[in-house]
Amino acid sequence: MFRMLAVAQPDTVAEAYKILTAKRFNTVLGGCAWLRMGSLAIPTGVDLSKLNLTYINDCADTIEIGAMVTLRAIEKSRALAEYGNGILPQAVSNIIGVQFRNVATVGGSVFARFGFSDVITALLALDAEVELYKGGRMSLADFLDKPRAKDLLIKVVIPKTERTAAYQALRNSASDFPILNVAVSRLDAEWKIVVGARPAVAKLAVDAAKLLTDGVTPEAIENAAQAAAAELSFGDNMRASAKYRQEMCKVLVGRAIAEVAACK
Ligand SMILES: Cc1cc2nc3c(=O)[nH]c(=O)nc-3n(C[C@H](O)[C@H](O)[C@H](O)COP(=O)(O)OP(=O)(O)OC[C@H]3O[C@@H](n4cnc5c(N)ncnc54)[C@H](O)[C@@H]3O)c2cc1C
Repeated sequence: MFRMLAVAQPDTVAEAYKILTAKRFNTVLGGCAWLRMGSLAIPTGVDLSKLNLTYINDCADTIEIGAMVTLRAIEKSRALAEYGNGILPQAVSNIIGVQFRNVATVGGSVFARFGFSDVITALLALDAEVELYKGGRMSLADFLDKPRAKDLLIKVVIPKTERTAAYQALRNSASDFPILNVAVSRLDAEWKIVVGARPAVAKLAVDAAKLLTDGVTPEAIENAAQAAAAELSFGDNMRASAKYRQEMCKVLVGRAIAEVAACK
């Protein structure tokens, strides 16, 4: 269990950042579902709950999700259910259980960059961007490539387009960490193939996706699935071997492409 000497509830993001950076181990508190599993000694925990970051705004061109939105709110959001074939609500629906999802936040899920994250895999396929207090706005893919730095994630922004998408995940049992997760999306002729829980953090299989731009035949699906498994790297952990993950990648990517291809 983590220990905390003090909790601050700042009224502005600027103040939150000032407290966060005042001491090395000062830490942002999301839902604390992950933090409480560790043994950190935190001088000051920075609670963001006074910053009004619990919105899901369905705007004309984007859907904006505040950092303190819970996974359960994502699961229940009508706007998110209706966008991108509802892959984001679908992706979070197997994370532990309802009580847990009522606590865990999107900010904690994205900023922590967990390799097993279902949230990041789905958001990458939806071409999401993140807004950080210091780092500014950038694509989620760029954020994942940057070295870790202290900052505050303010919101996740999903562009609203005609994108269709599908989500697949493999678990040893419901509510366990995923062995592998896959999200595929298409906007006109542009495809995205994302594979997470490799067990490293989700990544786009850029070259594999290009194999679909000329049309989706059974051969093209098979080729893209094989190419994604060859393009990305996989590792072992207690849940599965690298080899098993690589084989399952072909299956899940193939299924997800076929699902997207079948979308009207
Ligand atoms: C037992 C267990 C099983 C899980 N299984 C899955 C799973 O199968 N799939 C899945 O996708 N996820 C899973 N998760 C992760 C979970 O969904 C959340 O992502 C995780 O709990 C972090 O969210 P939180 O709000 O609790 O963050 P916290 O625990 O509060 O914080 C996590 C980290 O993020 C930082 N942080 C939080 N919010 C912000 C912010 N706005 N800006 C900057 N930094 C911030 C914190 O300082 C901390 O370093 C699991 C977690 C646990 C504990």
